[in-house]
Amino acid sequence: MGSPRHEQDATKANPQFVNGPVIVGAGPSGLAVAACLQQHGVPSLILERSDCIASLWQQKTYDRLKLHLPKHFCQLPLLTFPPDFPKYPTKYQFISYMESYAKHFSIGPRFKQSVSRAEYDFVTGLWRVQTQDSLYYSRWLIVATGENAEPVIPEIPGIERFPGPVIHTSVYKSGSEFRNQRVLIVGCGNSGMEVSLDLCRHNASPHMVVRNSVHVLPREVFGLSTFAIAMELLKWLPLKLVDKLLLLVANVTLGNTERLGLRRPKTGPIELKNATGKTPVLDVGALSHIKSGRIKVMEGVREITRTGSAKFMDGQEKEFDSIILATGYKSNVPTWLKGTDFFTEIGMPKAPFPNGWKGEKGLYAVGFTRKGILGTSSDAVNIARDIADQWRTSTNGWKSS
Ligand SMILES: Cc1cc2nc3c(=O)[nH]c(=O)nc-3n(C[C@H](O)[C@H](O)[C@H](O)COP(=O)(O)OP(=O)(O)OC[C@H]3O[C@@H](n4cnc5c(N)ncnc54)[C@H](O)[C@@H]3O)c2cc1C
Repeated sequence: MGSPRHEQDATKANPQFVNGPVIVGAGPSGLAVAACLQQHGVPSLILERSDCIASLWQQKTYDRLKLHLPKHFCQLPLLTFPPDFPKYPTKYQFISYMESYAKHFSIGPRFKQSVSRAEYDFVTGLWRVQTQDSLYYSRWLIVATGENAEPVIPEIPGIERFPGPVIHTSVYKSGSEFRNQRVLIVGCGNSGMEVSLDLCRHNASPHMVVRNSVHVLPREVFGLSTFAIAMELLKWLPLKLVDKLLLLVANVTLGNTERLGLRRPKTGPIELKNATGKTPVLDVGALSHIKSGRIKVMEGVREITRTGSAKFMDGQEKEFDSIILATGYKSNVPTWLKGTDFFTEIGMPKAPFPNGWKGEKGLYAVGFTRKGILGTSSDAVNIARDIADQWRTSTNGWKSS
């Protein structure tokens, strides 16, 4: 990105009036809303900071990643997965689906356009969206930058003293790079568990830090997806009862995880997910390695000592070759969207699902539902319908310059 001075000069030289909404982000959410808009005959412009669509999936995920949920929960609107896709598509299959999706709807985002600031301009009554190269004006602004825009990096006292590599899971690709190493994995969500499992398969020695409580559920029960069963039960039973049933099934199939150092939160898995966004771990094999002792569960890290070893809350001290931070992601909306109180300070819409998609003065948000692609699809359909209504009643929107 250029210097602020250079940025200002470039934007002054090149203001563009966009015919239709500006969408920030070309992940699944940005693509879904662009496709739904197109179905209503509304053009749009996607601005994407990276050089490809679905950059989270293409650039920031590990090789062995498969969709966590069965495929029919992860389809974008208007185009189904190819019929030969397995129940849990690989990340490569998911990426190829999104590439076909973009092609099918002729979606051509403008790449390497990082939105550094967007705000409503009261003089023109338009959204003013600034990237390093250009300044865009549009009647509608759709935020599609995702819940996972930036890695969360925890503060570990003395981390600068650690002699080996310290990486976030967003740059982890495969356990092959850690063969025979002692690896400390900080975090025990789906990524922490799956990376630990991957490391086992490459003969590394993973130690997984479990600082907080966590719900581990079987991914499937009697060949049926646990998530699908929960969704079905929720249509008939109250949430708390569904949570109780899930925990019962988890105890029967997985045993008491607390004995393995994986304390369960007091709140049930779905209630917790709805309230905090904390996703339960759907076990794909890590638990058996925890039971056998191949993956060691550790309490929180107190510090990295002067000699570079990790000291844990329980007083143990161990040496490691690498540290992998499986500490999740956060939204980046507060860093660039200004002058609106539609989002909280952590960059999530204040109104919870299903009402968090529409703000004021033509502002929209897609994909901030804590419900994955399922929530994205719901938002995209709502937003497109809403904008299409305005588009039809207006004088054909704005004509691009
Ligand atoms: C490891 C992992 C596994 C997952 N598995 C599943 C699953 O099985 N099922 C499921 O439903 N969900 C899953 N998810 C959740 C997943 O993130 C979402 O479902 C999906 O990627 C969300 O799409 P999105 O477009 O909202 O966000 P993203 O995919 O994060 O896309 C946002 C885009 O916005 C761009 N961007 C950000 N800031 C700016 C800016 N300032 N200017 C311009 N562009 C910007 C980014 O570069 C990115 O391309 C998983 C997430 C992770 C991390």
